[in-house]
Amino acid sequence: MSLNDSWMQRDLAVLWHPCTQMKDHEQLPLIPIRRGDGVWLEDFDGKRYLDAVSSWWVNVFGHANQRINQRIKDQLDQLEHVMLAGFSHQPVVELSERLVQITPPGLDRVFYTDNGSTGIEVALKMSFHYWRNSGQPNKQRFVTLTNSYHGETVAAMSVGDVALFTDTYKPLLLDTFKVPSPDCYLRPDGMSWEEHSRNMFAHMEQTLADHHREIAAVIVEPLIQGAGGMRMYHPIYLQLLRDACDRYDVHLIHDEIAVGFGRTGTMFACEQAGITPDFLCLSKALTGGYLPMAAVLTTDKLYQAFYDDYSTLRAFLHSHTYTGNPLACAAALATLDIFEQDRVIEANKTLAARMATATAHLADHPQVAEVRQTGMAVAIEMVADKASKTPYPWQERRGLKVYQHALQRGALLRPLGSVVYFLPPYTITEEQIDFLAEVATEGIDIATRASVRVAVAPGAPANFHDPG
Ligand SMILES: *Cc1c(COP(=O)(O)O)cnc(C)c1O
Repeated sequence: MSLNDSWMQRDLAVLWHPCTQMKDHEQLPLIPIRRGDGVWLEDFDGKRYLDAVSSWWVNVFGHANQRINQRIKDQLDQLEHVMLAGFSHQPVVELSERLVQITPPGLDRVFYTDNGSTGIEVALKMSFHYWRNSGQPNKQRFVTLTNSYHGETVAAMSVGDVALFTDTYKPLLLDTFKVPSPDCYLRPDGMSWEEHSRNMFAHMEQTLADHHREIAAVIVEPLIQGAGGMRMYHPIYLQLLRDACDRYDVHLIHDEIAVGFGRTGTMFACEQAGITPDFLCLSKALTGGYLPMAAVLTTDKLYQAFYDDYSTLRAFLHSHTYTGNPLACAAALATLDIFEQDRVIEANKTLAARMATATAHLADHPQVAEVRQTGMAVAIEMVADKASKTPYPWQERRGLKVYQHALQRGALLRPLGSVVYFLPPYTITEEQIDFLAEVATEGIDIATRASVRVAVAPGAPANFHDPG
């Protein structure tokens, strides 16, 4: 038995994997990874895979990065953890100062949690609680975009709209206002992203006009709806939204958990709209993809609404045990150092241009409806019919064929449904981008040529995606 097989068997005897129908692993081998090195992951049989999706969008400077490793090792010898209520430590103070400094003006307070979903919970709870503390207890509801994704905990699911993740749990979810997304894949032929995004804002304006007295906040994934299939839109939408939230006295929550730290071409997506949200949620690349941590930044105005004598019971009594973990903070500080020292945002422009040229030919593919890009994210949408953009039935799992082909060729491409995408570490080379494009092209050819027969479950929703 190969080493891979033996680890796989031990794993499958005891583990339950995330976002997985475990029965799939009767056919689909698990890949036990022994080590990582830059953009490469290596399995126990010595096969290497180029990590084109940054291990679920977290890894920006490669695996086993020497600079991040060293910072964590140094911190480990000083202090591994201390509770953050009543106590503090150097890395959490330094990180908070840096985050306040590099985010848009006005975001002056940082609250930490230990993953993206709980960061979203904090933003939702703080917004709700702010209105109570400010004498407007009727402002309790949230506005969200169709096709959005904000995480897996119950309130985070409530403001999401990807059927695969939320449909089952509907009875548990908060009642939200869902507004049609500015998703530019769905724009009329010949219309610009800007015009479409601007037009789609009318729906948001209407919802806010009708219901602002009961609305606490609007939550969006700025510029890229990630788990919803890397659907993209123009920054004009965020500008219009900021203006409307001010006019209607509603908070604006930016979930930059996936897009923060350079993914859209700027350090934060909100910079492209020139706006400051009331809450900025960060996670994923925050620690360079090393350790779980999220940060929620907010304004002094928000903070002051909670600041009072204890007996007024206005405090935000929310905590997670590992809040502000020093090792995670050290990883984040090392990550921010790399951004600064290596002028990463500037350097990424060359890589983004190469991602565009390397994938441009796919726009002519008969089963590709669109190749789209925002900064360091490229997505290729496979369809059953190009002219009408008719999607493949989700049951056909076309993306899975691309995944399997890519693994054979030594690349980790993990499509979302029929959307093949690259979200590579920023340490990727131009040659490696060309290699990914080659593998994706082959995979798309194979996946779209195959005739697939599937049993369709009765009553299954139409907008399912394969797990990301
Ligand atoms: C991944 C993600 C989350 C959830 O983060 P977790 O750490 O997985 O809980 C929330 N919002 C967006 C936009 C994400 O991509």
